[in-house]
Amino acid sequence: MDFEAVIGLEVHAQLKTNTKIFCGCATAFGGAPNTHVCPVCLGMPGVLPVLNKQVVEFTLMMALAVDCRIARQSRFARKNYFYPDLPKGYQISQYELPIAERGRIEIEVNGTAKTVGITRIHMEEDAGKLNHEPGRPVSLVDFNRTGVPLMEIVSEPDMRSPEEAGAYLRKLRSILRYIGVCDGNMEEGSFRCDANVSLRPRGTTPFGTRTELKNLNSFKHVEKALHYEIRRQQAILEEGGEVVQETRLWNPDKNQTFSMRGKEDAHDYRYFPDPDLLPLVIDDEWIARVRNSLPELPDAKKARFEREYGLSAYDADVLTAAREVADYFEACLGEFNKPKVVANWIMGELTAHLNTENKSITASPITSASLAGLLKLMDTGVISGKIAKTVFEEMAATGKTAAAIVEEKGLVQVTDTTAIENLVDAVMAAAPAEVAAYRAGKKKLLGFFVGQVMKETRGKASPDIVNQLLKKKLEP
Ligand code: ADP
Ligand code: MG
Ligand code: ZN
Repeated sequence: MDFEAVIGLEVHAQLKTNTKIFCGCATAFGGAPNTHVCPVCLGMPGVLPVLNKQVVEFTLMMALAVDCRIARQSRFARKNYFYPDLPKGYQISQYELPIAERGRIEIEVNGTAKTVGITRIHMEEDAGKLNHEPGRPVSLVDFNRTGVPLMEIVSEPDMRSPEEAGAYLRKLRSILRYIGVCDGNMEEGSFRCDANVSLRPRGTTPFGTRTELKNLNSFKHVEKALHYEIRRQQAILEEGGEVVQETRLWNPDKNQTFSMRGKEDAHDYRYFPDPDLLPLVIDDEWIARVRNSLPELPDAKKARFEREYGLSAYDADVLTAAREVADYFEACLGEFNKPKVVANWIMGELTAHLNTENKSITASPITSASLAGLLKLMDTGVISGKIAKTVFEEMAATGKTAAAIVEEKGLVQVTDTTAIENLVDAVMAAAPAEVAAYRAGKKKLLGFFVGQVMKETRGKASPDIVNQLLKKKLEP
């Protein structure tokens, strides 16, 4: 039987505010345990939460960036459950009246575009962190994270493959980073994803029973876990069995998912409106102001790069995935206006170098201005393309400008035709057999002659001139 996967994702994005969502404690990561706490985030009796306006502002930015409808009035609700990392015994979240609903994100997989619906976006607080002491029968709790603001983004069950889920997550993270509300670091947990997946016979409409996958700490894990889970559910269904609705944990060492607990239903949480917090009222003026403050977003930038710079869809996609890369590209163009050349160097040499050094483009040893400087030297024929690559390596290692390196090492391209002609003559004289073979029709030997001349000049001869002269002289 042919089954189709149905996937919906829940993402928790930690918002980059300085202070927590309902108190003034710092959100900074890495403090000594229980040092960023106060009576509010510790859930002491008799204290009152006060909503952090920046959290609302950031959530509005995201909601508008993905075309959601903004609720003019929304509410906070208490989600009740017991766990030692939750001192109040409830998490403040939003339930019936979230701040935003009905948005969308465009994705593309293998050249096919698709829209994934956003069901809702809401704000909530994070819980604390349990530290299980290895080798000791105790667990310690750190409340620094309680009350750190999260934005939950729930998708419609619109994805049909692990690859689509991956594309959705990448686009979502790209948007979050463009607007600067979340650093999107999956490994550190500031961008967390739970994946819901079910199967149905292809061509049918009703959804099957889903499982929810947790502990997905990287994009690779999300895709692998979904592939595994789809196979697991398929095996059950093919044997005539039933999938159990449950939460399953991904084990990256075993490459399998394991049942963690039965899936709780919303009513298990006894949600009710939080009487300590006023309804959140958002007026048109606030929405308009946030909308106007949004930067150009990835899809719009990509379309503009194709239109304005004549880049291919692929190049435009790569260059706009991260805002910093797009900015670097455009800064480079400001000084050297050949988009395709700049794009090739950024996507080729520069990216390779940054990957090896594990650096982001903002920490690049080669600034956009110095890359433009190198490309100008190449474009005006001062250095050859081959030498440019050597100079690039040297720039990356030393931080010096291309001009300084070319000057220092005497790498200026030899364009003196007479000098090159002498070398061509010498090379031909030293290889009479090859000259004869060439003239007898073995045209591939041209590369051999070019190589010899280049060797003599340590790569500095202008390849154009060398090719021209050789062709002329080798013709019988
Ligand atoms: P819960 O609050 O229990 O997690 P939600 O209704 O909020 O449940 O749905 C959570 C996610 O599960 C959403 O992203 C939704 O698209 C997805 N989902 C719901 N039903 C299915 C299903 N049958 N198969 C796959 N995903 C589903
Ligand atoms: Mg949910
Ligand atoms: Zn606090």
